Amino acid sequence: MAAARAGVYVHLPFCPYICPYCDFAKWAWDDAKAARYLAALRAELASAPQVDAATLFFGGGTPTTYAPDAIAALVDDVRGRFGLPAGAEITVEANPDPILVRRLGGLYAAGANRLSIGVQSFDSRELRVLGRRHTPADVANAVQAARTAGFRNLSIDLIFAAPGQTEASWSASLEAALALGPEHVSCYGLTIEAGTPYATWFAREPGAFADDTLEARLYQLAIDRLRAAGYEHYEISNWAKPGFRSQHNALYWRNDPYLGLGVGAASYLEGVRSTHTRELETYCRAALAGDAIPGESERLEGAARAGEAIMLALRTSEGVVLASFRERYGIDVRERYRDVVERFVAAGMLAADESRVYLTERGRFVANDVCGAFLAD
Ligand code: SF4
Repeated sequence: MAAARAGVYVHLPFCPYICPYCDFAKWAWDDAKAARYLAALRAELASAPQVDAATLFFGGGTPTTYAPDAIAALVDDVRGRFGLPAGAEITVEANPDPILVRRLGGLYAAGANRLSIGVQSFDSRELRVLGRRHTPADVANAVQAARTAGFRNLSIDLIFAAPGQTEASWSASLEAALALGPEHVSCYGLTIEAGTPYATWFAREPGAFADDTLEARLYQLAIDRLRAAGYEHYEISNWAKPGFRSQHNALYWRNDPYLGLGVGAASYLEGVRSTHTRELETYCRAALAGDAIPGESERLEGAARAGEAIMLALRTSEGVVLASFRERYGIDVRERYRDVVERFVAAGMLAADESRVYLTERGRFVANDVCGAFLAD
């Protein structure tokens, strides 16, 4: 089988401000640090392992804190080094603020053709609680300006189960998102990450946060509303209009290779999963010196590799396609994981037929438990 083309992920870790729930590798914008980081990133890019790129994704942080000429230079670097084909999906994560609006023309000219906009909520009170500084009007302006700049593929990120959120306020956010006509919507349940200000708040006042019952109701609302609006629920947290699934993320779920560049970035190449250090200065020093970037790596083999691939595939609406697993991993999933499959089919969380094993709608609510069982087995 020919080697699959790889996704290239570039981490741009600076943000205009820091949100209290966020656990990503990120720092508040600082001119000197951002310039040094960009130089380090380009140095790493020049000496990173060779891959044939299929997609390019700028994540963060808030990549649009960098001016479009910096993004353009990185796009050119990736094209030159990894042969990113013309017309390939190039996504940039963005904050819907007035700075973005001014930069959209330049971003499109730089080659970006997909924007993933971190909206989170259209409710002003929820935005304040989440520490976000944009307003619902800023979102509408950003979407309009993106269309004017030429973007035909927009994704809106929303968060449900935010403190104080109700079914009514969540429904209103979904309606407001749909009114803007995005091609793609991601809805993530809020998770409390250790070490964040939200974790401190949760420890002090757990009642301020949604319980599991409310969170499930909010997720169900998203499923029902987005389906009614013609979006395919193609992955646990992702919905797309036909033809607009995220090609970059699809590659993660297919367990295809990806190359992550930048601080904290993860790669999966030739069966080895590795993660760069999350220390900014450690990363910059190593990259600028041409040294290997410190971090962790592990080779996934045998049951661990198959379990990981099943876990990823189950996230998608296609689920595990039995024939391709047989060809790629040499295992018959229904046979090898007979007990797990039967247990979750009986519980109504998995469905299995001659060609596939996949999560039922009910199973999507407890996806971590179901997927985790394949890793543990
Ligand atoms: S949530 Fe996004 S914008 Fe907020 S600090 Fe994290 S990476 Fe930055």
